[in-house]
Formats: sequence, structure tokens, C-alpha cells
Amino acid sequence: MTAGNPDPLVTGPRDPEHDASATLAFEPEYAAALTQRVTSSSGESAVVISPLTGQPLAHVPQSSNDDVAEAFRRARRAQVAWARTSLDQRAEALLRLHDLVLDRQDEIIDLIVWESGKARKHACDEPLHIALTARYYARTAHKHLDSERRLGVIPTLTRIDVNHVPKGVVGIISPWNYPFTMALCDGIPALMAGNAVVIKPDAQTMLSALLAAELLEEAGIPRDLWQVVAGPGPEIGAAIIGRADFVCFTGSTATGRLIAKGCAERLIGCSLELGGKNPILVLRDADIEKAAEGAVRASYSNAGQLCVSTERMFVADQVYDRFVDRFVARTEAMTLGATLDWGNDMGSLISENQLVAVQAHVDDAVAKGAVVRTGGRARPDLAPYFFEPTILEGVTPDMACFGSETFGPVVAVYRFHDEADAIARANEGEYGLNGSIYSQDGARARAMARQIKCGSVNINEAFGATFGSLDSPMGGMRESGLGRRQGAEGIRRYTETQAVGTQRLIRFAPMFGMSDAAYAKVMTASLRLMKKLGRP
Ligand code: NAD
Repeated sequence: MTAGNPDPLVTGPRDPEHDASATLAFEPEYAAALTQRVTSSSGESAVVISPLTGQPLAHVPQSSNDDVAEAFRRARRAQVAWARTSLDQRAEALLRLHDLVLDRQDEIIDLIVWESGKARKHACDEPLHIALTARYYARTAHKHLDSERRLGVIPTLTRIDVNHVPKGVVGIISPWNYPFTMALCDGIPALMAGNAVVIKPDAQTMLSALLAAELLEEAGIPRDLWQVVAGPGPEIGAAIIGRADFVCFTGSTATGRLIAKGCAERLIGCSLELGGKNPILVLRDADIEKAAEGAVRASYSNAGQLCVSTERMFVADQVYDRFVDRFVARTEAMTLGATLDWGNDMGSLISENQLVAVQAHVDDAVAKGAVVRTGGRARPDLAPYFFEPTILEGVTPDMACFGSETFGPVVAVYRFHDEADAIARANEGEYGLNGSIYSQDGARARAMARQIKCGSVNINEAFGATFGSLDSPMGGMRESGLGRRQGAEGIRRYTETQAVGTQRLIRFAPMFGMSDAAYAKVMTASLRLMKKLGRP
């Protein structure tokens, strides 16, 4: 895709430092080559539309139920050999992936922008996050996966080893919003732990996921170990749940419930990364400029189509007016555009459906009395599904955007007088993914964080501090999910914990002609002694 004529449909300012002539064209042959990686024999295909233009980008072959079965057969065969490789061999492949992703980031970012319509600066986070993930799991694999010794019941005579053995074949169902990141970030630890993967990316962003598969193979991951299937979520999702040893799902809470039910039926585990209605608290001692800058990133990264982005801001009375003025000013200073260059602060929504949903939330709020401080309109002059970054005041519980996730660039700002009340309001609803606190008193903010019912809380930052720290577990409380990605939790979820006990000299039964009653007495005395000795 790096050569050819500039696409006449792509308009807007271009950054001369970025080699526009090398990136503004989209070659159908490039997409067609990627689509060969889908396990498909159905003869059917589905179109991928570019939000930059509203025009078709590629036709992706679709998988049937039989194709999914074939993908699992291949993956299972490949996993047996893969599980025998050493952690160091797997780590080498991940470190090669790290380099490949950084070396080819221009190509990766171009494809992400073509498929998702997001601003280049938001697409750029995706290869960076994958490089971080690959390096983290390559370098920490021994720490998370090596067998460990645990306490045996009889000191020195009972030895317990705990092994972390791979589950087998992991099914991954991923969304469209971070199509390259979501295609890889959960799969990397699955591979590192010795599993194979069958992945069903979202239909709107198949190409980014297929490029991810190509890069994995180039890094040395056997092709059969990573199977990509395509098709409608309910059908292909069910075909995956019916065969996988573990399911990793990222998407909406509604679909997450269905996945959990399907997995419960088969008694297999799953991790669910779901929606959020993430709050930010700006305390009276906050650095207002920092908070306003953070609020822009928190609300408009990827046009708000980010699970951890904020849609609710609670601001202390004393700083409310100053903060909102600065937030509005910074929002209005943003450069908007759906082009491939670096000039844009925010890009397009992904699809017409998404545009309709965002517009509906804003229209409903306005009809019921909310005030639009800035934004509030679709911008078809920029791209077919473009919506302005929008700040609302006066949002009330009867409005749809009060408690339901908008998943767009729309944020409601609320005033608070009392911090306990702000925490209670931040904890309203059933979500619990990410929260932020802006305050110059880090210790006080950290203490307050414990009261926020969210899986991650960032202090003086939107979400990057936790999301970018790969050692930090990431996931939701309440209806925002089950399980965690990243950190030890993110890799151990793909393993079974196996205990191996080795017993020496003494057995767990009366010995030397001892009666059962005498044995019970000896055991009772031993237990009392162990407690006295401080043994756990
Ligand atoms: P969605 O649940 O409709 O789709 C997500 C994936 O699930 C897609 O691949 C889709 O094809 C598949 N799917 C749909 N129905 C299915 C079914 N019945 N069985 C199996 N698979 C099915 O979500 P969406 O609306 O496309 O994505 C946006 C949502 O994802 C938002 O709510 C957002 O908060 C959430 N999200 C969460 C995270 C996170 O890490 N917590 C990250 C990104 C997105």
C-alpha cells in the first residue's frame, strides 16, 4: 500500500514531514493479499468501508462453522509442538515482533487510519502499545510462568511444586476501536504461555488484524498457531465458544453477558473487557491547566471510542468555572480532520451506526434541557461519520447520556461541593472500568482512589499511566468486566495452575502399628506445635 496515486478523496492539511506521497494511496492488492490469511472456504465475502471516504476498502472472505472447526484443528496441532518450546524461544519471537512493529509502524498506522478513520496520533498508540506488550511479556515470562515451590504440609518431607500449564487453544473476540492493539495485546501473553489462538476480529477492521497476523508469522510464530476467522459475531462467536479452552472477549457489556453464558455452559473460563462510563474528579487543589489538557485526551482520544475514555467530569465548585473555560478553549482549539497525516487532533467515528448513536445521545440531552458548551454537531464536510468534540452541562438522570455509554466524543461536566458526594456520584451506575483524579496532593488522591469502584484509577493523568504500564493489571469492576489483561493476571489467565506434591518418608496414614486414635493424637499435637512455631 505504499505506492500509487494519492487518493483524491482524502483532503485536509498535510504534514510535509510525513511522506504523504508514500502513504496517501490505498492499494486494493495490498488488502487482497492480507485477506488470504482468513481461514475461509465459504466463497462468501463482506465489505470493509473506510470512514475516511465512506467507500469500500476491501472484501474479506467469510468463515463458515466448518472453517472455524478447521481453524481449531490446525491450532490444536500447532499448539502441541509450541507448548514444548522453551520460554526463551517464545520470548525471542516476541522481541522480533517488537522490532518489526516499530520498524513498520508507518504502514501499520496508515492501515489503522484507513480502516478506523481515527487521527494519526491516536493510531500511533497502537504499534507502540504492542511493542510494549511484546517486550513486557518476553522479559517477564520466567517471573510469571516458572514453576514455584509452595509450602508442604510436613516441613521438608512434603514438597509442593506449582506449574502454570497452557490452557490449549484460546479464542479471542476483539472489537474495532483499537483494531491492531486489540488483535494482539491479549494474544501475545496467550502465545507466551504456550497456547494457540483462534481470533475473530470485528468485521469493520479485519485488515489491521490480518496485518497483525502477518507480522506474527514474520516474527517466527508458526502460521497455524494463530488462526484468523471472519464473520458475524453471533455465529462465529458461538462457533469459537463451542470449541475454545478459554475465551478472551473485548466489547460491549451486552455481548459480554452472552459470552459469559456460553462459557458457563461449557465450564470454560473467560475474561471480559467491557464498557465504561468513566469519571474524572477535578479536586479544588488541582492544577487546572494540567486537568484541562488531560480532559481533552481523556474525552477525545480516538473520538471517545475508547473503553477507558471519560464521559463524566466532576469538578470542585471552587475551580469549576476556570476549569470549564479552559476545557472548552482547549477543545475549540483542536484541529479536526479525517486524513492520514499528523495534523489532526481528532478523527472520525468508525461508522454510520456510531454516528447515529452519538447524535442520538446529544439530541436527547439537548431536548431535555442540557446545554452544549461546545460541539454538538456532525461534520459531514470533514468525513461522512465525523462528530465534533462536545461538552455538555446540565445533564440529568433522565437523559440517555447520563448513565449509558456514548462511546463517542461527548462529555458531561458536573459541579460538586463535597468530595464524599463527588465520589458517590462517580460510583453511580453499574460500570467500573477507569477513573481519574486531578489533585496536587498525590497521597490524598491515592487514598481517595481506593473508594472509586473502578479497575484502574489514574492520578493527574487520563488513562495512560495504568494502561501504558504493562505490569499494571487492567480491567473492570462490576459490569465493566471479569478478569484482567496486562501484568501477571494477564498471562496467568491463559494457564491452568497445577499442583504436584512429592511425599518422602512419612505417609498420611498411621505407621509403625499405630492405631487410628493414636495417629489422630499425634496429628493434633503436631498441629498445635506448628501454630506455636508460627508456621502459616
Ligand atoms: P460488540 O460487543 O458489539 O462487538 C465486539 C466483538 O464481539 C466484535 O468482534 C463482534 O463481532 C463480536 N460479537 C458481537 N455479537 C457477538 C455475539 N453474540 N457473540 C460473540 N461475539 C459477538 O461491541 P462494539 O459495540 O462493537 O464495541 C464497542 C464496545 O466495546 C464498547 O462498549 C466499549 O466500551 C467496549 N470496549 C471495551 C474495551 C475494554 O478493554 N474494556 C476495549 C474496547 C472496547
